[in-house]
Amino acid sequence: MIDLKRFEIWFVTGSQHLYGPETLKQVATDSREIAAGLNNAGSIPTKIIFKPVLKTPAEVSALCEEANQTTHCIGLVTWCHTFSPSKMWINGLKLLRKPILHLHTQYNRDIPWSSIDMDFMNLHQAAHGDREHGFIMSRMRLNRKVVAGYWQETVVQQQIGAWCRAAAAWHDWQGAVFCRFGDNMREVAVTEGDKVAAQIKFGYSVNGYGVGDLVKHVNAVTGTQIKALLKEYEASYEISSALRKDEKQQASLREAARIEAGLRTFLKGGGFKGFTTTFEDLHGLAQLPGVSAQRLMAEGYGFAAEGDWKTCALVRAMKVMSIGLKGGTSFMEDYTYHLNSRGMKVLGAHMLEICPSIAQDKPSLQVHPLGIGGKADPARLVFDTPPGPALNAAMMDMGNRFRLLVNEVEVVAPDKPLPKLPVARALWVPKPDFHTAVTAWIYGGGAHHTGFSQAVTAEMLEDFAGMAGVELAVIDGETSLRRFKQELNWNEIYYGLRDGLRS
Ligand code: MN
Repeated sequence: MIDLKRFEIWFVTGSQHLYGPETLKQVATDSREIAAGLNNAGSIPTKIIFKPVLKTPAEVSALCEEANQTTHCIGLVTWCHTFSPSKMWINGLKLLRKPILHLHTQYNRDIPWSSIDMDFMNLHQAAHGDREHGFIMSRMRLNRKVVAGYWQETVVQQQIGAWCRAAAAWHDWQGAVFCRFGDNMREVAVTEGDKVAAQIKFGYSVNGYGVGDLVKHVNAVTGTQIKALLKEYEASYEISSALRKDEKQQASLREAARIEAGLRTFLKGGGFKGFTTTFEDLHGLAQLPGVSAQRLMAEGYGFAAEGDWKTCALVRAMKVMSIGLKGGTSFMEDYTYHLNSRGMKVLGAHMLEICPSIAQDKPSLQVHPLGIGGKADPARLVFDTPPGPALNAAMMDMGNRFRLLVNEVEVVAPDKPLPKLPVARALWVPKPDFHTAVTAWIYGGGAHHTGFSQAVTAEMLEDFAGMAGVELAVIDGETSLRRFKQELNWNEIYYGLRDGLRS
């Protein structure tokens, strides 16, 4: 969908003139080597670009302005090889509108015990230079990620990589437009929210379209376009035997293909990065978009049903974060429980719209009645999700702020086959355990709709929440219910004091 190597993270080293030209030359040489090392690290998906060492307030401000104006620069990694007095950073940091990661590292790994002298210590003094650098960002209440450790260490590079992924998703949201066909599912609360606040906070806009606008495109789809899509279906999926035999089902599939072609034209034409549908508003469409929503998600579009624009945007962001990683990302819904005390589980699915990027095997293309919405039988891809670690994330509008709620889960195989369930699904055990996780989720006001991923990590979402400046609550292996409830209460005070009436 996007080549993350198109994006640049600027590697910025702070120093000052006090050290003299020779030391500064060495600082630049070392910094260049670190930047190149990070640029070549397999776990860092973007480019890392060395920038000349900053020595004056004017240089800091100029670099921050340049970063703001450079579209493909999606963030800064800062580091102080030597001591860089932080008052010279204040004006620049005030101007900066790109995410920051403060890498607290050192060029040399080991203390050279037998040869170390004062010159060596004066050159390699990030241990205190970075403390000055950290102070000013804390003093200015700047959101940033701090990563500490040796720059060649895998875990350090992985932490930087996770942040780069979050920065790419954050960049992708800025100026993004999400399309909403129809409005919200009537009377549903959690999918509602303040779209103006979201645009101020997140940078994306959500615009509504009548489903008739889409129908025009769907009706203009040609027989050739439909044939081409049917051929693609044939090549990509197992076509169910019922569908092969039944002419009525085949007609439904052609309708589904027509909707897919029309949707794609509409979304491409409008430059949208995602869309929502609602089964309550399908006038002029023969069936609820099923296989089309699934396939468009697999292409990288954000999606959520029932007008849920917040989840749609979140799914898109999670798709950008996970580019090139193993494991898929999908719109998801906590659907039903297995409450057997020998192993409680959540069955996640939706009426139709689960992304085949999370399919374990080749999906099966089937047509079945929907039993809701009163439309013709829709086509959908049916599959299971492979076992392994995953997470669910939901974004709620809490009135004075947005809350990003994350739950780490373990996907497991179904106890038995589900031959009569004609939808894609995932089965998981939430962390730390079923009771704690679902209780915490309910206390957190967590939505039934989520972004589900087997590639995105809680760390990426934590970094992302930091960039957005929104509340993050994580339910993971460490969660204790009592502590979690306190955390929500503390957050209530913190965000109330911080944002006041602004959000
Ligand atoms: Mn739903």
